[in-house]
Amino acid sequence: MIDRAMKRALFLDRDGVINVDHGYVSRIEDFEFIDGILDFIKTAQANGYLLIIVTNQSGIGRGYYSSEDFERLTDWMLEKMQDAGVVIDRSQVFHCPHDPDSGCDCRKPMPGMFKAAQERFGIDMENSWMIGDKPSDIEAAENAGVGHTLRIETNRPLSGNIKKMLLKGMNA
Ligand SMILES: [Mg+2]
Ligand SMILES: [Zn+2]
Repeated sequence: MIDRAMKRALFLDRDGVINVDHGYVSRIEDFEFIDGILDFIKTAQANGYLLIIVTNQSGIGRGYYSSEDFERLTDWMLEKMQDAGVVIDRSQVFHCPHDPDSGCDCRKPMPGMFKAAQERFGIDMENSWMIGDKPSDIEAAENAGVGHTLRIETNRPLSGNIKKMLLKGMNA
């Protein structure tokens, strides 16, 4: 079956939103899911949102850790998400491995990762959401035409009110 309907997406930054940002998290032992995020993601999926992760990983370009380290951690993170009932695979994770000085078009606030996701999945950007903790997350989403953005505090669980507001907006 081919689904020709345009999908709405929930774009999520990784560090500081999904997991606690300890600075250049690259090892499984340093990856700590933020309270309630998996439940929230699951609920968003139940409301018809395709989950997309967009993460700047300049630690690779800076030589702090390798692409293999990133892939290993991503595989582990996806497994934990799947264990929690989230439907997601590797194709839904976009990362920028470049150094900030490289002038690439994927490092947020550039919209490259969002555009790549849009192309891969046929996303309805206008009706999609981005949740991030940095101004560059929000800028990148706006540069890519994402209709709704929310900036939260780094490492803070989403409050009950934010969850309610988001899910209400998501259903609208
Ligand atoms: Mg972040
Ligand atoms: Zn890049």
